[in-house]
Amino acid sequence: MPVVMKFGGTSVADAAAFENVARIVANERDAAPIVIVSAMSGVTDSLLAATNIASLENVFERHRAVAYELLDPSQATAFINQLRAVADKIDALLQSPAEYKSLQDAIVSFGETLSSTLLAEVLNKKGIAARHVDARRCIITDEEFTSAAPLMAETFAQSQSELIPVLESGVVPVLGGFIGSTKQGVTTTLGRGGSDYTAALIGAALGVREIQIWTDVTGVLTADPRVVPEAQTIERLSYGEAAELAYFGAKVLHPKTIQPAIENSIPVRICNSRAPQEPGTLVGPETETSPRTIKAIAHKTGVTTVQISSARMLGAYGFLRKLFEVFDEHRTVVDVVTTSEVSVSLSLDDASALPAIVAELEQLGTVSVENGRAIICVVGEGLRRTPGIAARVFSTISDINVTLISQGASSINVTFAIEEERVKEAVTRLHDEFFCEK
Ligand code: ADP
Ligand code: ASP
Ligand code: MG
Repeated sequence: MPVVMKFGGTSVADAAAFENVARIVANERDAAPIVIVSAMSGVTDSLLAATNIASLENVFERHRAVAYELLDPSQATAFINQLRAVADKIDALLQSPAEYKSLQDAIVSFGETLSSTLLAEVLNKKGIAARHVDARRCIITDEEFTSAAPLMAETFAQSQSELIPVLESGVVPVLGGFIGSTKQGVTTTLGRGGSDYTAALIGAALGVREIQIWTDVTGVLTADPRVVPEAQTIERLSYGEAAELAYFGAKVLHPKTIQPAIENSIPVRICNSRAPQEPGTLVGPETETSPRTIKAIAHKTGVTTVQISSARMLGAYGFLRKLFEVFDEHRTVVDVVTTSEVSVSLSLDDASALPAIVAELEQLGTVSVENGRAIICVVGEGLRRTPGIAARVFSTISDINVTLISQGASSINVTFAIEEERVKEAVTRLHDEFFCEK
């Protein structure tokens, strides 16, 4: 059975990193690897910036500066007006909504197309027979440009027919992550960080032995290492634990990665391409309880919370349906939900449709919105059985105002919102409390 090996952007940052990837692939040569690769680090951001009017501000500013310095005020004003008209025209071209998103996908897809073509050539040069396979022929999606959803039957069939012959000829297939195409062959992408998802989809389609995610840290850590530098590698996680962590901010794994792995019982291993001998983290079906009960703390910022209060909710049915229909209509994903007799609180990652949503919610009750919130999620299978953990969590940060507390339906996480400014302090204190020997 083959293995999938996915390398993130930092694993292909420069020539030395490419060489390192070639060494790692060579070590797995006998396991029939299928290699998936992200764009070189920073490339997706640069390509995206090229499709964004804000990135042109510097261009306009340079013209403006020359006009102010060298022209008479009336001439300068006329020129600035012309400059503004140009900016508006470019903006209008970039804003034509349907085309813009598909144009954006077409442009950013070149990051993965280039890195995967290059990696296949590098592997060949190093004596590992490899062939570039266009991922857009394997991952078939709907037309939701910039965050397309794969069509599973088509994706599985296409991936098998594209990849099995390559594997059978003893050649290593190399594909770009993140990118796909509609049934009509128009380029799409799976959303930022989506190469992990490609790895899981290809792994499920081919029934691989293991999906390896090679990145710049040694596995999933007990907290985000950018906030808690002393965070430690977690040896094993259940699918449920990994899914909660990914969903609530542990960027090391794209939130959609786990689902195809669960459905096909494929283990997912997260490894460090700079320390390939370390075992990293193994994610699988086992639900073992760690002696500490809590396995990790994830967090995410930029969250908005919304509270709707209405006496009409009391003893009435149909209220929640109406409420969620509003979010549905505006295609807005709700993360955490808590309810009391007369109010519902919920959190959103993407608040772009909020003004329209609030206007409709106001017909159901009194609405209040708080921006600049953060969500913290404490995860561990043992939370199901161990009393007192929630009390310990909240007493550790008792001076920080906590809202929207939820013990997920799976009972393996405690999730809550606080103000964004205090999130680093809260995560650090919780990590000290649960992971540092005292
Ligand atoms: P790649 O480019 O390989 O996909 P990402 O940047 O998407 O890598 O993900 C790896 C990063 O995720 C790490 O460098 C780390 O900063 C961040 N991260 C956040 N939370 C965690 C966590 N709990 N464990 C490990 N890494 C985490
Ligand atoms: N290159 C894409 C991104 O930066 C996909 C990925 O790296 O997973 O979002
Ligand atoms: Mg990533």
